[in-house]
Amino acid sequence: MTHSQVKNIVIVGGGITGLSAAYYLQKEKRNNGTPLSITLIEAGEKLGGKITTEKVDGFTIEGGPDCFMSQKPWAVELAEELGIGDELIGTNDEKRKTYVLVNGKLTPLPDGVMLIIPTKIMPFALSPLISWPGKIRMGMDLFIPPFKGADDESVGDFIRRRLGEEALYKIAEPLMSGIHVSDPEKQSLLATFPRFRNIEQKHGSLIKGMLSQKKAANHQPKNNSRLNSLFISLKNGVEELVNGLEDSLSDCQIYTKTRVISIIPAADLKYSVELDNEQHIIADAVVLATPSYNAAELLETFNPKLADQLTKIPYVSTATISMAFRKQDIQKPFTGFGFVIPSIENRDITACTWSSIKFDERAPDDHLLLRCFVGGPGKEEMVDLADEELVRKAHKELNLILGLNADPVLTRVYRWRKANPQYEVGHLERVKELFSTCSQEIPGIYLTGSAYEGVGVPDCVSHGKKAAGQVLQYLQQEQVYA
Ligand SMILES: Cc1cc2nc3c(=O)[nH]c(=O)nc-3n(C[C@H](O)[C@H](O)[C@H](O)COP(=O)(O)OP(=O)(O)OC[C@H]3O[C@@H](n4cnc5c(N)ncnc54)[C@H](O)[C@@H]3O)c2cc1C
Repeated sequence: MTHSQVKNIVIVGGGITGLSAAYYLQKEKRNNGTPLSITLIEAGEKLGGKITTEKVDGFTIEGGPDCFMSQKPWAVELAEELGIGDELIGTNDEKRKTYVLVNGKLTPLPDGVMLIIPTKIMPFALSPLISWPGKIRMGMDLFIPPFKGADDESVGDFIRRRLGEEALYKIAEPLMSGIHVSDPEKQSLLATFPRFRNIEQKHGSLIKGMLSQKKAANHQPKNNSRLNSLFISLKNGVEELVNGLEDSLSDCQIYTKTRVISIIPAADLKYSVELDNEQHIIADAVVLATPSYNAAELLETFNPKLADQLTKIPYVSTATISMAFRKQDIQKPFTGFGFVIPSIENRDITACTWSSIKFDERAPDDHLLLRCFVGGPGKEEMVDLADEELVRKAHKELNLILGLNADPVLTRVYRWRKANPQYEVGHLERVKELFSTCSQEIPGIYLTGSAYEGVGVPDCVSHGKKAAGQVLQYLQQEQVYA
């Protein structure tokens, strides 16, 4: 192909989704010689978006995600392709224990609870976490007929229907909101935990389904013990994945501290991507890997209808507060990965992870590192407090819950405003409509990222890969390459 056939692709947003899209486009260019010019524009000072790791005084502090699920293989596969597979680490599973705060006391989640479903009878029966009537109600899952039809419902309604109210507010709500930071009464089951509906319909019961999956998993050969954990990270933190991507993208033009301000149609089926430095780039295809409300801003003048649809995806704000302590100052050492707090407990923090117990190499040997979470639905005003106030409130809760009154030797606060997209009931329909409007009215522009089809880091890698595939398919159509 001649130089004139080189197609310009602009990716807006240098989070994990945009970087993955760039990576898979560059891979096509290198492997198949497809004539592409790939430009990635990021508004922030550095790449990575929500992924940010700070290394300071021997601590590895995660501002955003601290790990990702191994069951979704795309991030692990990407790390291996990038040549940083050896950097992947699993959790310290011999120390795995999660607690739930119930009436101000930490109660262990019984052994064998998978996601939210008990799969071991004795530990569950003996656990004080759920009352006897609550346990009997959960057991009724074995007899309640499955939901008929394909309608969406809220996660709250689903859990209440199958396992009862107590399971909802003591186990499901605090554990599941850790991933989606959502109100379970609004959260779409089909968009966030479609697996539960599948299990219910296939096995007639969540408990039976989880037991059968556990049995099948036990028969799978386990060949890589390092990655057998449910959750994976990298030795130097999740940002190592971003750094690996950045290093590999030598065939892409990358601009940071540059904001795209709008996208407008240009001649010959192209688009003009307008930048805040008064320059513009003419693109044959554009990947919008930003939060949906940012995509709305860019399309507002060009396609107000689509922009309006995009603003309908709500977001909430959160903050993480990391604190490091000297081991010698802690009187009652904590064992376990951390604890979650049901909203009914009405606390200032929603969860706490002991980062240096969960993963190796997060703190010097004589120190401990933990991080607390604040904000989310109904508690967003917390995020506006000053750093010192957030640290003070989190520390006070740790003292009340754990008796942890030692002074932290290091603290870090990361605020995440409008960072967590809310997949509310009907989200799948909304996204289907959005994608369909997009392909009909602005062909060549692709919406991707955590707003639409999954929020986890591996999901975002897969979204970026999918967007790259869509762009390539679009460019191969006759009218674009003619
Ligand atoms: C506190 C927190 C903890 C989390 N923990 C986990 C976890 O443990 N495991 C997990 O799997 N997931 C976790 N997640 C979710 C996961 O981190 C995110 O869903 C994912 O990183 C989003 O990636 P993204 O590329 O889609 O979006 P982003 O990371 O938001 O990237 C979008 C980028 O677009 C840029 N941008 C926006 N507008 C413009 C513009 N006009 N011009 C140029 N650039 C623009 C932004 O600056 C940003 O860098 C967590 C999220 C948060 C907030």
